[in-house]
Parts: sequence; structure tokens; C-alpha cells
Amino acid sequence: MSDSASAGWVCSVCGYVHRGAAPPEACPVCGAPASDFERQADTPKPPKPNPGQWRCLICSYIHAGGAPPEACPVCGASADDFGPLDDAKPEPPQTHAGALRFVIVGGGIAGLAAAEAIRGVCPDARITLIGKDPAPPYYRLNLTRYLAGEVGADHLPIHPDAWYSEQDIRLLLGEDVAGIDPAGHTIQWASGVSEPYDKLVLACGAHPFMPSIEGTALEGVTALRTRGDADRILDAIRPGAPWAVIGGGILGLETAGALARRGARVTVVENFGWLLPRQLDAFAARHLHAFVAEKGIEVLYQRQTAAFEGDGCVKAVRLADGSRLSAEGVVVAAGIRSNSHLARKAGLEVNQGIVVDARLTTSHPDIFAAGDAAEHHGIVYGLWEPARYQGQIAGLNAAGRPAEFGGLPRVNTLKVLGFGLFSVGTIAPADGSYLVLRDETEEGCRVFLFHDNTLAGAILAGDTRLSAELAKAVKTRRDCSALLRANPSAADAVAFFSEARN
Ligand SMILES: Cc1cc2nc3c(=O)[nH]c(=O)nc-3n(C[C@H](O)[C@H](O)[C@H](O)COP(=O)(O)OP(=O)(O)OC[C@H]3O[C@@H](n4cnc5c(N)ncnc54)[C@H](O)[C@@H]3O)c2cc1C
Repeated sequence: MSDSASAGWVCSVCGYVHRGAAPPEACPVCGAPASDFERQADTPKPPKPNPGQWRCLICSYIHAGGAPPEACPVCGASADDFGPLDDAKPEPPQTHAGALRFVIVGGGIAGLAAAEAIRGVCPDARITLIGKDPAPPYYRLNLTRYLAGEVGADHLPIHPDAWYSEQDIRLLLGEDVAGIDPAGHTIQWASGVSEPYDKLVLACGAHPFMPSIEGTALEGVTALRTRGDADRILDAIRPGAPWAVIGGGILGLETAGALARRGARVTVVENFGWLLPRQLDAFAARHLHAFVAEKGIEVLYQRQTAAFEGDGCVKAVRLADGSRLSAEGVVVAAGIRSNSHLARKAGLEVNQGIVVDARLTTSHPDIFAAGDAAEHHGIVYGLWEPARYQGQIAGLNAAGRPAEFGGLPRVNTLKVLGFGLFSVGTIAPADGSYLVLRDETEEGCRVFLFHDNTLAGAILAGDTRLSAELAKAVKTRRDCSALLRANPSAADAVAFFSEARN
């Protein structure tokens, strides 16, 4: 039985778990009211910190040592982006799953994490990991750094090639799964041949959303999703050439920063009135705009793209107001769509993504889904860490080891642009019951949103040293009543959260 003072309350909309005697007035993640919270039957104990190990907040790289490294060797994040590893230690392997056949469709981080989790608890399992990409699983989130020339191709693979055979994981690359038969427990290859499974994990990721704009088929109009996309852009780019990026979200800005590093003259076309509208409020976005402009990147706000023009190759972008931008290349960064067609064709429940429950089970009990392909409580995260974590949980459940995904706060950072930016959780107050503290510093600004005596969200622009503590405070719903009692300023909030670092 759980202690009523620390009972768990699960938001039925987004999966957020609140601890306390009663549910919060509103969910700090999705804003759902108290009536949407359900009491957890049995509240799991929080994981114990694992001293001496540090996880990179951005790419999940784990560093062993007394302190975090100066910079993440994988994604370049600074020491401030590391937090103590607080995953529970894996329990001893189970053997009951024996030589069950696990098939994982999708060789991205979610698929790989599922394979690792299954192998961790089922030494005898027969694991097949299938990827459409010709390359073994790689750090997709590092493609912008690769494009910028910050890391070479040798930094992209997650594991060396030999790792897969050492782990006895059958890795099939450049292979496209064409269908699934849930009743028959088989997948189908394009050739029509079937392959049986006992448990299936769908980790097939997402594809870039291409708005239906005239001219998207022109050469030079592309998205950035795969290593192949990055290589094509690198082949095409030349110093001084005009390039356009459609979309001023994180991926669009990172891409713009990378293109500018390669010497292109970059214009970003953004529909909204400020940059990163999903991660920043207008106040914080002003600082980012100034920084971006200093880099020589032009941003056009509240503009819609009407067409890409050219004769075989793109030459210009026509905007809805009739104006034209000349462009030798265009990168469209207008969001992603889950790869859910396999699941849909197989009759599984699909909404924006493949619908999963807390155990990441789809509407078929032997099929699991994770990462950008999956929709949990209405959310398709489209982020690295949730994809990794979901993959792990899907793998554990597929292997018969119950584990639950309770939702994660969204953590966003910029890497390539060189501007320290971090945002987590809710960035816009849903109503007047939120306390918002903000101030400006020499380097940028800080915004804190409190609700129900906890930190619901935060933005750091410029100095991001507090990012790991803030992410943790949002994730664990740290009690901030001691701070909030004293009519605090943003500087007081910084001091309060800094204490946890020291
Ligand atoms: C350029 C870029 C930068 C990013 N930067 C960040 C960042 O800084 N921080 C962050 O949190 N997130 C970032 N992301 C998002 C993050 O990379 C994704 O959320 C994450 O990679 C999703 O992992 P996944 O395994 O679910 O899907 P994916 O990485 O898309 O992998 C799915 C794999 O499944 C394969 N597949 C699909 N269908 C089939 C099929 N039928 N048969 C076989 N294989 C199939 C695909 O080819 C793909 O290789 C970035 C993404 C991009 C593109």
C-alpha cells in the first residue's frame, strides 16, 4: 500500500505523475484539470541516484567519473548539461522468456534501446533489429553538428559495427518491412516473404512533413532527417550561395546555423511572430533573434511560403505576399509525422502516432511501439531522450518485465548555433494561477513558471548552467514552497535551484 501523503496521481491526458495527498489543480505538463488525474494503484519508489555516473541531458551519453566531463564527447554539450544518473540499476537477468523471437522494426535510438533492454533481461532471446537506413543506428540528433562540420562521420554511429554481433543482435540494414500480420505473428518483406516473431516492437520513427507547396520535387529542395540528406546538402552547398530554411523551430534554426557555418547566406522563413514558438515566449525569443541576426542569418516573420521556383533545380522561394527570395538550396523544417502506416495497415489503433498505453503496448498485446512513431497520451515527443526511454520500456515489457512510461517533460536545447538556450515543460501559463518570474541578464534572460508550488517550466537564454537542475525539478515536481513563500524574484529562483547543484 502506498503512503497517502506521497501517493502517485497520474494525469490521464499526458501521463504526468504527481506525488502528494491530492492531485494538483492542473497538470503542469498539459494543463489538464485535477479531475483528469487518477490515483496510481501502487506508487513505485523513486530511483536511487547512481553516484559516479552522469547522463548527458541532450544525447543520453553516460560518463563515469567523480564529475561530469567538460564537454560531451558525443554531442558537444557542456558539463552543465549533465545530471547524476538516476536510473535504477538493472535487475538480474530473467531467463523465463527463453529463446523468444523479438523483431524490432526501426534502427534508430528507440529500436536500439529496445534491443539493449531485451538483451539485458533475456540473454537467450533471438533479437532482430531491422533498419531501412543503410547505416547502423547513429546519433540522428548530431546530424546538424555533422552538417556544420563540428563532428565527422566517425562520431555518428552509436556503437561500433562489432557490437551487434557481440550482443548477438541480428542487424538487418537497408531493409524495408512492408507489412505486419498481427494475428499470424509475422512481418512481411517487400519480396512477399514472411518472417515470424513472438513479440514485435515498432520503432520506425518519423519522416519530415513536406507541406503541399508547388515545387517541392525540384532538385535542391530537401529536408534533413538522414545522414543521406546531410551528405546531399553538403555536396550542394557553396560559400556565398543563398539558401532558405522554411521553419524557425529548433531543427530549422540549427540547420540555418549549420548552413551559415558552411558559408551560405541563409534566410529563415517563419510563419509565427517569433522564433521557436513552441519552446520560447516572445520575451526570450527577442534575445535569440538578436543572436541569430549577429550570425548573419536573416529571419522573415509571419510569412508563408507559396512555391519553390526553378527549372529542374530550385532557384527561388516565392512567398504568399508575392515577394521572392533567391535560393540555390532550400531545407524544409516544418515538423515531423510519425511513420505509422505499417501499424495502420495492420489494423492497430493509430492517431497522430501509433497509440500506446503506459507499457507502450499497442492495441495488440504482442506489439509495442516507441519513439517518434508512438503516441502516448496524445503526445508524439519527437525528441531523443523520450525515444530512448520509451524504447527501453517497450523492450522491457516485450521481454515480460513490466515497466511503465509516465510521460516526460519536454527538454529543448540548441547545439550548433552557439547560443545557450534551454527550455523545459510549460512555457506559457494556461491561466492566472501560474506565477511567472523573469529577468534579463547580460547574456540573455531567465523565465520560471511555477504552479501548485512546483516548477512547471523554465527558459534559460544565454547562461544555461542550471539546465540539469531545472529539468530535474520539473520532472520530479520538486516542492518549491520554501522559495515561493517569500515573494521571490527570478534571481531568488536561480539561487534556490543553484543550491541543488552545489
Ligand atoms: C537533424 C536532427 C536533429 C535533431 N536534434 C535533436 C536534438 O538536439 N534533441 C532532441 O531531443 N532531438 C533531436 N532530434 C530528434 C531525434 O533525433 C528523434 O526524436 C529521434 O531520433 C527519434 O528516434 P526514433 O528511434 O524514434 O526514430 P528514428 O531516429 O527516425 O529511427 C527510425 C528508423 O526506422 C526506420 N524505418 C522506418 N520505417 C521502416 C520500415 N518499414 N522498415 C524498416 N525500417 C524502417 C527509419 O529508416 C529509421 O532509421 C533531431 C532530429 C533530427 C532529424
